[in-house]
Amino acid sequence: MSHKMQAFEIAGVDALQLGKEFGTPLYVYDTAKMESQYKRLKKAFKGSKHKINYACKALTNINVLRFFRDLGSGLDTVSIQEVEIGLKAGFKPEDIIYTPNGVSIEEIKKAVKLGVRINIDNLSILEQFGSIYGGKYPVCIRLNPHIMAGGNVKISVGHIDSKFGISIHQTRHLERLVKSLGIKVEGLHMHTGSDILDVDVFLKGAELLLDVARDFPDLQYIDFGSGFKVAYKPEDIATDVEELGSKMTKMFNAFCKEYGRELEIEFEPGKFLVSEAGYFLCQVNVIKQTTATVFAGVDTGMNHFIRPMFYDAYHHITNVSNTNGRKRVYTVVGYICETDTFASDRQINEITEGDLLCFHNAGAYCFTMSNNYNSRFKPAEVLVHKGKAHLVTKRQTLEDVLSNQIEVEL
Ligand SMILES: *Cc1c(COP(=O)(O)O)cnc(C)c1O
Repeated sequence: MSHKMQAFEIAGVDALQLGKEFGTPLYVYDTAKMESQYKRLKKAFKGSKHKINYACKALTNINVLRFFRDLGSGLDTVSIQEVEIGLKAGFKPEDIIYTPNGVSIEEIKKAVKLGVRINIDNLSILEQFGSIYGGKYPVCIRLNPHIMAGGNVKISVGHIDSKFGISIHQTRHLERLVKSLGIKVEGLHMHTGSDILDVDVFLKGAELLLDVARDFPDLQYIDFGSGFKVAYKPEDIATDVEELGSKMTKMFNAFCKEYGRELEIEFEPGKFLVSEAGYFLCQVNVIKQTTATVFAGVDTGMNHFIRPMFYDAYHHITNVSNTNGRKRVYTVVGYICETDTFASDRQINEITEGDLLCFHNAGAYCFTMSNNYNSRFKPAEVLVHKGKAHLVTKRQTLEDVLSNQIEVEL
């Protein structure tokens, strides 16, 4: 090569160095990107009283939760375990909203004991809840506005066939339960899916929710969920949160005037806050040329990084070891013993065995969806903050993989 290769940096740290120091496969997160996304959203909604609750199922490392707590964020949780991690991370109970789906009344009772805000998404549990607590413990109601939205059917949760939320066509029944049992409804909520590009889809949902809100006099907040799309491909367009913020705050403020009281807009983004902050580093084990394809086989698989196989997600790839080599066409595959393709027919700077590759947008729904299939260890996680790389999850060992197994005499 005639000129020196340009180093690929993550938050100012050389990725090659990170690979060397912590090994691969490795997840790396940039706190500065999380912070700028959080502040961008805050700014977009500055026209209304508002609150952002980080949806921590996207990336549940406790250091990430602490980081968002320090920024002033609340927390959106979907299981009692996430609630417990949130409390451990130092969130106050009132800053945690618990939005489970399909859980038992027993789990909801635990959430009451822990004092967090509770979002109920079906009439049966709401009726049981009302019979036990009446108006003593306020609740939020998750409604389903029946809007088809989202980048993939697996992440579209607001449509007519979806299991999520109480249908807006059941509000009559909902009101009947609320009235008869004296339930205090402090919030209304919707979350229609992930990867929603169109600002008008959000606004349409908001309009439907606000229509229902008129009939609930005790509201403190209205939670519009999430689903903001971020750019995965270099040419991708993302949700225009500034446009959404300006239109939505206008609509919301007009509603509050009519309602007679200032309410709070809430959002609970996961992907928007952490997706672009994450990078997944792996090493190329083998270049395998078949009659039809050039495969680059890497030292990880869909057990560590499931989005390409599960959602047909595109993740951009950089060859960290050769950032300005000539582009060649590769199919990048994992080492799991079934088809686990990360990218097909992708142009990547020429790859040699031993090179370090980096998948972009690996902050959301990546590490948290990893598993031990093929008895592989889960990757390590590193958080880069102010130029310093901190190991925040160690790589697993064989003891970890076997830790809950019990050997018995048969
Ligand atoms: C998963 C989830 C979110 C976060 O969705 P993103 O697309 O990651 O922003 C928000 N709210 C609820 C209830 C969720 O289940």
